[in-house]
Amino acid sequence: MKKPKFQRPTGMHDILPEDQGYFQKIYNVCETVANFYGFKKIDTPILEDTALYEKGTGLATDIVQKQMFTLRTKGRNYLTLRPEFTPGIIRAYLEHGMQTLPQPIKLYSSGPAFRYEHPQAGRYRQFHQFNLEVIGDGNSVIDAQVIQIFYNILTEIKLKKLIVEINSIGDNQCRPYYKKLLLSYLKSRDLSLCVDCRRRLRENPLRVLDCKEEKCQRIVSQAPQMIDHLCQECHDHFKGVLEFLDEIELPYRLNPYLVRGLDYYTKTVFEIFEDTEEGRKMGSLSGGGRYDALVKLLGGEDTKAIGGAMGIERVIATIKSKKIKTQKPSNPPIFLAQLGIMAKRKSLKLLEDFRKVKIQVAESFGRDSLKAQLKIADRLGVKYTLLLGQKEVLEETIIIRDMKIGRQETVKLEKVVREMQKRLKK
Ligand code: ATP
Ligand code: MG
Repeated sequence: MKKPKFQRPTGMHDILPEDQGYFQKIYNVCETVANFYGFKKIDTPILEDTALYEKGTGLATDIVQKQMFTLRTKGRNYLTLRPEFTPGIIRAYLEHGMQTLPQPIKLYSSGPAFRYEHPQAGRYRQFHQFNLEVIGDGNSVIDAQVIQIFYNILTEIKLKKLIVEINSIGDNQCRPYYKKLLLSYLKSRDLSLCVDCRRRLRENPLRVLDCKEEKCQRIVSQAPQMIDHLCQECHDHFKGVLEFLDEIELPYRLNPYLVRGLDYYTKTVFEIFEDTEEGRKMGSLSGGGRYDALVKLLGGEDTKAIGGAMGIERVIATIKSKKIKTQKPSNPPIFLAQLGIMAKRKSLKLLEDFRKVKIQVAESFGRDSLKAQLKIADRLGVKYTLLLGQKEVLEETIIIRDMKIGRQETVKLEKVVREMQKRLKK
């Protein structure tokens, strides 16, 4: 095949018809589970003010430093394709005065997210997320519940051997002291860190814990741990979350070096993986955390909140590697074949009658040859073929052919919909 003149942008993908079923199935599960737990759907624009992410996601994050797709509008404003959902949703929460409604506000969304990453398996420049936020509640039971919801969604999609990794990264009271400790530890080893981490050292040493370079991970594995330095409040909160997780028997593992790539997190952070070698290679299927300082940072009142997101493509890749079956859309049970211009006209109308009673009927109206049409009917494996020819149109009848036993029968055209309803019910 000749190379086409235009190709999709690097790291971005077409979702072809054969893959749409996976997306639909996953979104269905997500929405059903989210609705059960009392979440309401919200859609926000895919573009937001660049400043929203600089302030919300945070200037020192990889996302803001390296991964944003930003464009300048004709009005000379800077807009960014959303790299994550949370800042846009908090913006909407504030803009629509949701803080005056009974709290918490529970919202879910889904759709594309954009990050300028080095494309590889499970890492794209345009990917899709399912996202949850609970705004206006600081209780540790909510943390456990948000984690449980993502876990339940993944289980419902039939993924097994899931593990939750969890950590607390403290808050403004206890984190500054820990940061100092960490900084002095890392500084004593800064020559062995990667270039990015040496920069991170100056901006936010916690970011080093999130580095995926092996040499940095080796250094991190000996670093002081945040959980040893939590203040009383954060300690109690974290203990509460773990007790709730124990209660619902969710498999989790403490990961004292889990910090995650966003600046706004406080207290609980989590990621869910498939606990196998491939799962680890794939990376987190879902991740999130508490962000008690973000709403205020974006101009609202002091409001505690927590959220998380799931990466749809990674979930699909995992499903495919496990050969988990998703339901294929069912083939239509009937094929409508026509011969001659009069029959073509009548067929167009007859198809509408079937649509109204929600019976799926396949056709190939563009074709004139009966043989070609019957070939298609055969390939589709329909139960019945309806044949409308010149003679039938004049007599106001139609032929019903039972494809399995090969028997044909002529019925009145006006009765055929009712007749087919009856036969398909059997
Ligand atoms: P990672 O550590 O693998 O880079 P992340 O911490 O940047 O992930 P989040 O911001 O927590 O990811 O996004 C939530 C989920 O979205 C991830 O768990 C993952 O499943 C998915 N995800 C994140 N980045 C990408 C990407 N570039 N391509 C595909 N999926 C992604
Ligand atoms: Mg990332």
